[in-house]
Amino acid sequence: MKPSPHLERLRLLRPVAGRVAAALLCMGAGVLIQLGFPRAIAYFIDHAAQLQRHGIPPWMILAMLGAALLLATVSALRYYLFQSASQGIVTRLRRQLFDILIRQPIGFFDQHHVGELTSRLQADVMALHESLTVGAANVLRALCLFSGGVAMLLSLSPLLSLPLALFVPASLYIGKRSGTSYRLRAREVQSSLAESGKVAQEHFANVRLVHAFNQQQGASARYRQATARALDAALSNARLLSTFQGTLSLLLYLALLSTLCFGAWLIGQGQLSVGELTAFIIYASMVTESATSLAEFWSSWMRTLGATDRIFDMLRLEARLDDDAQPLALSGRIRFDAVSFRYPQRPAHAALDGVSLSVTAGETVAVVGPSGAGKSTIANLILGHYAPDAGRILYDDLDAAGLGTASIRRQVAVVEQEPSLFSGTIADNIRFAVPERDVAFAEVEAAARRAQAHDFIAAFPNGYETVVGERGMQLSGGQKQRIAIARALLRDPRILILDEATSALDAASETLVQAALDNLMQGRTTMIIAHRLSTIVKADRILVVDQGRICQQGSHAALMREENGPYAELMRHQLAQYGTLTAA
Ligand code: ATP
Repeated sequence: MKPSPHLERLRLLRPVAGRVAAALLCMGAGVLIQLGFPRAIAYFIDHAAQLQRHGIPPWMILAMLGAALLLATVSALRYYLFQSASQGIVTRLRRQLFDILIRQPIGFFDQHHVGELTSRLQADVMALHESLTVGAANVLRALCLFSGGVAMLLSLSPLLSLPLALFVPASLYIGKRSGTSYRLRAREVQSSLAESGKVAQEHFANVRLVHAFNQQQGASARYRQATARALDAALSNARLLSTFQGTLSLLLYLALLSTLCFGAWLIGQGQLSVGELTAFIIYASMVTESATSLAEFWSSWMRTLGATDRIFDMLRLEARLDDDAQPLALSGRIRFDAVSFRYPQRPAHAALDGVSLSVTAGETVAVVGPSGAGKSTIANLILGHYAPDAGRILYDDLDAAGLGTASIRRQVAVVEQEPSLFSGTIADNIRFAVPERDVAFAEVEAAARRAQAHDFIAAFPNGYETVVGERGMQLSGGQKQRIAIARALLRDPRILILDEATSALDAASETLVQAALDNLMQGRTTMIIAHRLSTIVKADRILVVDQGRICQQGSHAALMREENGPYAELMRHQLAQYGTLTAA
C-alpha cells in the first residue's frame, strides 16, 4: 500500500528531530514574548498619565530590554536550527536518491534521460527544501501565534471576536480548495523543468555537433520550446496564487475594519478601553495573519507534494543491492546456451534469438556483422547489464544467474569505442578500474607504461595529476583510448570486451594503441566487436552475427573459403565500399 504522501515527507524529519525540537522550543519562547507585547502596549496607553507623572520604573525598562534581547536570540536560533535541519534533510535525500538511481539496472537508464534525473536531484529536492524551511517553520509559528492570539482575543472581548470567527474558517477553506489545483500544476511544472533540463544537457553534451552543424539557433529554439511549457504551468500557478492572495487580503481587511468599527462602538458603550481596543486590533492582526499563513502553507505544501511526487516514486524504486564481488577464480571460459533477449524498450524485436556460443579461456574472438545485428548486445549480456529472457550464460560452466553481477564484472574489463573519462586527474581515471582497494601510484604507472600511455602523460606539466576536463575533452582520441587500456590493465580481468573504434586514428597513434591492446589481450579471453580487417584476421575465431543469430563462425581463412557464405559476402560488400568492415 502506498503510504500517505504527507507522512512520507514528514518522516524525513526523523533524523533531525533533535534540532527540530530545539527550534520549536525557541519558537515557543519567541511566540510567548510576542504575545506579551500588545498587552504591554495596552498598559502603556491606558496608564499614560500615571507613567508620565512617576516615570517608567527601572525594572520595567530592564524587563522590556531583556524581552527584546531574548526575542532576538531565540529568533536567530530558531532560524538557524530550522535552516540547518532542512539542509541536512535535503542533502540526505539527494544522497539517498542518488544511491538508489546509480544502482538501477541499465534498462532504467534506457527509459530515463540523464538530464531528467539531474533535474529531479536538483530542482525537485529544492522544492522540498523551501517547503520544509520557510513553510514548516512558518506554519508552526503561525499555529502558536494563532492559538495564543485567539486566547488573548477571547480574554479581552469575546463579543469583539465575532467578525474574526467568520474570517478564519473562510481563509482556511480557500487555502484548502486552491491547494489541490496547486498540486497538479506543480507536478506539471517539475516535469517540464525536467524536460528542459534534458534538452539543455543533451545540447551541452553534444556542443561540438551543435556548432559543427550550425545548430545554435535550432538548439535555442528547442530550449525555448521546452521552457515554454514550464513557463505556462508556472504562470497558471501564479494566476491562481494571485487570485488566492487577493481574496484573502480582501477578507482580512473586511474583518479588521468591522472589528475596528465594532470596537469603537464598544468604547462608546464603555465596555472597552482605548488600550484594550489597540491590543485587540494587534492580536486580531496576529490571528488573521497566522490564519493567512496557515492557508498559504496548505497551498504551498500541496505544491511541494506535486513537485516531489516523482522523487518519492523514485525513492520507492528498489535499489539493486550491491552484491559483494566474490573473488572467483575463473579461467575465462564463456558459454551462451540458447540465449534470447529483447530490450525492455523494444519488446517486439528480438535483439538475440537463440544464440549459443562457446569461448575457451584465453581465446580471442572477433564478433562481426552488419549494424544492428546484435554485437553490442552480446557484450552487454556478458557484462551483466541485462539478463537473458531465455537460455543461460555460463562462466567456467557456472550459471551467471547464481554468480552475482558484481562477481562476474570483477572478472571483466571493457574498453569502449569512445572511452569515457571522468573529470578528475589521469591517475584517478586509471584507478577507477579498482574500486575494491587503494591502488598504489606505482601500479598506476606500471599499467600506463604497458598501455603505451606513460610517455605522453609524463610529458604533461602535472603528469599523472593532470586534470582531464569533463568527458576528457583535452585529450586526443588515441590518448583517451590508451588511458582506457591502462584502466583495463590495472583491473587485470580474465575476460576482456573491446569495442573497437570505428574512426581511424593516424598511423602513429594506431600503432601505439595496437601495441597497448596486444599487451592487454595477452593471456585473457577477449571478445572484440571488430571493425578493422587487421583485427579480424588476427582473431582466433570470428563469429558472424546477423539479425540476432550467429550465422557462421570460424577462422578468417576458413570463412573466406565459403565463398557464398555471409562472411565472405560481408567482406566483399563492406571492404569494397568503405575499406573497413562496418560503415563508420
Ligand atoms: P552496431 O554495429 O551498429 O553497433 P550492433 O550489432 O552492436 O550494431 P546492437 O547494439 O547489439 O547492434 O543492437 C541490436 C538491436 O537491438 C538493434 O536492432 C538495436 O536497435 C536494438 N537495441 C540496441 N540497444 C537497445 C536499447 N538500449 N533499447 C532498445 N533497443 C536496443
